[in-house]
Amino acid sequence: MNSFNPESYKKKIYKIISKYKLVQENDKIFIGLSGGKDSGCACFVLSEYIREKKLKCELVAFYIKLGDFIPERVIETIKKQTEVAQIPLKIYDIKDFGISYKKIGTLNRPICSSCGTIKRYLMNKIAREEGATKLCTGHHGDDFIVFFMKNILGKNIEWISKFTPLLEGKGKQLTRIRPLFFGNGEDNKNFCDFINFPYIQEDVCPHFFLKQKIDKRREKWYEVIREISKWQPNFREYFLEGIIEIAKILSLNQKEPLECKICGEPTNKEICSFCRLLKFHKD
Ligand SMILES: [Zn+2]
Repeated sequence: MNSFNPESYKKKIYKIISKYKLVQENDKIFIGLSGGKDSGCACFVLSEYIREKKLKCELVAFYIKLGDFIPERVIETIKKQTEVAQIPLKIYDIKDFGISYKKIGTLNRPICSSCGTIKRYLMNKIAREEGATKLCTGHHGDDFIVFFMKNILGKNIEWISKFTPLLEGKGKQLTRIRPLFFGNGEDNKNFCDFINFPYIQEDVCPHFFLKQKIDKRREKWYEVIREISKWQPNFREYFLEGIIEIAKILSLNQKEPLECKICGEPTNKEICSFCRLLKFHKD
């Protein structure tokens, strides 16, 4: 922990941004914030990068409020984060899209997958309708290693094609960028603490605020990665580079997305997963 160096942390992210061309002149990048350390770091470092390189591009933070159960301090923290990063913030409420998060929680399906579906869908739709050229998230390397392993276990091999620092958009699907692709949660936390960057300490997952059970296995996966990194130097870096290579090969077979018959948003089925979810929601 003592060996943490905020300058080399930043430099490492800058290198990813330039190597994978995550930011280009005239980009309008929308970055989704949760109030947590990861998206906070992505937002702060990206805004610094744009300023230091004097790039002519716009960075806008946005937050989608999933319900009234979200404490005011989450929104206050996000406001502070964007003040420090000196970028504008837009706040949206899922109520305005005709969805009730609590109702979705009572559906007979895993809440995390419903929550992920809603967030992915709205983030892409909102950012695109606001004229964004790219969508940025705070997912980090350990997230991608875990996603990778879970997708192998679930035999969702096609999904692995999405695990790269820059995922080129297709049709109505915006290009997605992940400046923290080679980072991890501990470094993000250290960086925030070091520069005194505000973030919500507890889990920002809506479950936490609804006092529902959180899947403890998620934390176990991260522990395993930390454990391996102790005796296998560069484990994360090499593993992630391997994932990028696999993603490249898999993306060769990727088809253009279809447009959902109901809402017109991108999907790989006739009806998108969001509209399928809303159907259950109304029944
Ligand atoms: Zn749809």
